[in-house]
Amino acid sequence: AKSAGKGCFRFFAPDMHEAARQRQLLESDLRVALEKGELWLAYQPCVDASSEDVIGFEALIRWNHPERGSVSPVEFIPLAEEIGLINEIGEWVLRTACAEATKWPKHITVAVNLSPIQFKSHALPTIVRMVLNDTGLDPKQLELEITEGVFLNNDDHVHDMIDGLKAIGVKLALDDFGTGYSSLSYLQRVPFDKIKIDRSFVSGAHDPESRNAALIRAMVGLASDLKMQTTAEGVETREELALIRSLGCSLVQGYLFGKPMPPEEAQELAAKGSAA
Ligand code: C2E
Ligand code: CA
Ligand code: CA
Ligand code: CA
Repeated sequence: AKSAGKGCFRFFAPDMHEAARQRQLLESDLRVALEKGELWLAYQPCVDASSEDVIGFEALIRWNHPERGSVSPVEFIPLAEEIGLINEIGEWVLRTACAEATKWPKHITVAVNLSPIQFKSHALPTIVRMVLNDTGLDPKQLELEITEGVFLNNDDHVHDMIDGLKAIGVKLALDDFGTGYSSLSYLQRVPFDKIKIDRSFVSGAHDPESRNAALIRAMVGLASDLKMQTTAEGVETREELALIRSLGCSLVQGYLFGKPMPPEEAQELAAKGSAA
């Protein structure tokens, strides 16, 4: 190297090229993953905090890449959003999850995650209506999970889409509550059926005097005043469950009750009714 500055540049450049190249490869692979049947849905049970009965499942997307193995949605969902594939993937998720849920007892719900990008299209309520029609799933059995990110621009269009969805009779859940740096003003307008308390508040929470316990207590109080249910996400231990229960949270989800599982296992569990 002729100079330190140049040397540094040369040192970093290949890595950056490599990262960009890897991303490009992943991008072209994702474009065909749907057609090749490499995407599938895992289902994680959601249980009643006191009875521990299974009340529903959340559909979580998985990608079995032929060479890389399992690629995390944390990696490929943002990619799908950037390259304009999320609407197509989102509709596939909705259709697959609704079709699967028709095999479960009528009172067991299925929750589907929606990307904020899916709200940009006017077609969302129409797509949901069409999928319910095609699959024959009762709208009451479908729950749509939305994050605060949907409300960042606070535009009327989003509220029109939400009104359209509510009119269909599906349930709405606010996902990752409290992590989105958003104001609470959307709660003035959107009648969510439940809020999901993010795992970051739940993990390691067993001391009722802790800051996380105080935050969970406040979220549960707010939800109950607004007639919304609460789900605690990421419950891994009996200690966490005990605290969550004592704070009045009605539903729980987490490895303690089941990791996301293949559809056949979820169907079996749905028929049995209890995770214990
Ligand atoms: P999320 O919606 O907040 O989903 C919860 C995540 O926490 C899931 O990760 C789940 O496997 C994980 N989890 C559940 N219980 C526990 C626990 O007890 N301990 C720990 N450590 N983790 C737990 P996953 O499946 O990797 O999904 C990550 C994120 O990817 C989701 O976060 C969601 O934002 C997104 N995602 C997944 N599927 C879809 C989809 O079909 N559409 C869209 N738009 N996003 C999706
Ligand atoms: Ca979710
Ligand atoms: Ca979540
Ligand atoms: Ca989360």
